[in-house]
Amino acid sequence: LPSKIYGDRRPNSQGFNLHSGHQLQAFLSERDKFAKHQWRAGSLVEGQLLFDQHTAKTIHSPFDRANEVGLVSQTTPLQLQQAFAAAEQAYPSWDKLNIKERANCLRKTAELMEQNFAEFIALCQFEAGKTIQDSIDEIREAVDFCYYYANQAEVRLGEVRSFEDYAGQSCSSAYQGRGIFACISPWNFPMAIFTGQIVAALVTGNAVIAKAAPQTSLIATRTIELMHQAGVPVAIVQLVTGGADIGQQLTSDPRIAGVAFTGSTATAQAIHRSLAEREQLPVPLIAETGGQNAMIVDSSALPEQVIKDVLRSAFASAGQRCSALRVLCIQEDVADIIIKQLAGAMKELNIGNPLDVTTDIGPVIDEVAVNKLQTYQQQLRSHGKVIFECPLSQSRGLFVAPSAYEIESFSELKDEQFGPILHVIRYPAKGLETLITQINQLGFGLTLGIHSRIEHRFCHIARQAQVGNCYINRDQVGASVGSQPFGGRGLSGTGPKAGGPHYLYRFSQRITVPVTT
Ligand code: GLU
Repeated sequence: LPSKIYGDRRPNSQGFNLHSGHQLQAFLSERDKFAKHQWRAGSLVEGQLLFDQHTAKTIHSPFDRANEVGLVSQTTPLQLQQAFAAAEQAYPSWDKLNIKERANCLRKTAELMEQNFAEFIALCQFEAGKTIQDSIDEIREAVDFCYYYANQAEVRLGEVRSFEDYAGQSCSSAYQGRGIFACISPWNFPMAIFTGQIVAALVTGNAVIAKAAPQTSLIATRTIELMHQAGVPVAIVQLVTGGADIGQQLTSDPRIAGVAFTGSTATAQAIHRSLAEREQLPVPLIAETGGQNAMIVDSSALPEQVIKDVLRSAFASAGQRCSALRVLCIQEDVADIIIKQLAGAMKELNIGNPLDVTTDIGPVIDEVAVNKLQTYQQQLRSHGKVIFECPLSQSRGLFVAPSAYEIESFSELKDEQFGPILHVIRYPAKGLETLITQINQLGFGLTLGIHSRIEHRFCHIARQAQVGNCYINRDQVGASVGSQPFGGRGLSGTGPKAGGPHYLYRFSQRITVPVTT
């Protein structure tokens, strides 16, 4: 096969090589120093952690509910007002700074993340339940976002453009921030997406009030502390903690100049409505939401490669990625063999404690997720055909069995199921066009995987697909910053794509001024 149709994995930029036993041991013992650490989170207003012992909630590890990771105190409406007042005051001088100075704060943040690698691995594992590999990828992606947006800001926003002098006056144009940005991020990428949104807003000259996902506020608090340590003024990036109430107060405040949001489609719609109801004119909403992602496998595909990529796309991170594969569509001629191999490969998956290097799949995030996913599995068990349900041996944590079910048609799909549940559909050789239409009609448009060795066919599918990210003969998760700009369309998001060259423009505005000589 021509190599161009194989996607390359991102090089290991941090120098961690999980295959080197020696390096791994040293690295795990660094992580283990944090095993008993008790972190604290709460509002970070002007650099102060406003922690209230009485209202604080204990955070338990998803993989062992007996394990206490730390305490999170909730932001009060008054604290939010204090954050707005401080941000309003601090914003003008941050926006006036030279882009290079802001970009250097991002680079310094990345350096500090690398210096604190072991602590963040521990946090990603204990608070979010991530496997070792997922935790490493998480931190690397946060680092990548810092460097990428720092460089992009200098290249794209730094230059002052002069225009043709048709009107008798020569003008130039420069980029400015918009004001105070609300950055609202999800628990599934508690450091990477959290950092990506915030540093994009910061480097373009905005002040940020970030709202962490309630499940992962400890990671968020430590990340913001590093940004302060890196030189971002304390009133320019502040944090609020809590649930939908505080999020709603944040996005309905008239002082907000834009919102970057990653989470459910329903919440994005609610934010959109609340922005539309303000007396002011609309401000940008950058929303990255859910997916109902398919993979199309035709009879020319290489079965072993398909199985490897299906396992990663559907079950890695316990399926808790918006990019994850949900509907595997197999051409009927090869369906039996691929389904059989899939069940066989699923038997080999190691589900359990993410601290253990041999674990492939860890827990899901909380009890709500367990109940929702298990209820759905029960429904599928009675309606669909069970291909395989991985046995679970863990009792103390929030584990959901990775499972695959064969269904008859797309009409059986309900809402996005954010976990390790895969649907499998067979399609007739002559039914490819109908299949593409059905996938497009799902209304989401995030990722699509294609496995085929027929070039004109995979090119055709990729052109017809109404998705944001299409992957050919590889897995369909883990977009790399800078080389696979990520984001969907339709119900999956508004764009612009994260980790792509146009992301920063949406956080900025331009001013045209006459050139004075
Ligand atoms: N960027 C991630 C990926 O490519 C997905 C982000 C998300 O799940 O929100 O897998």
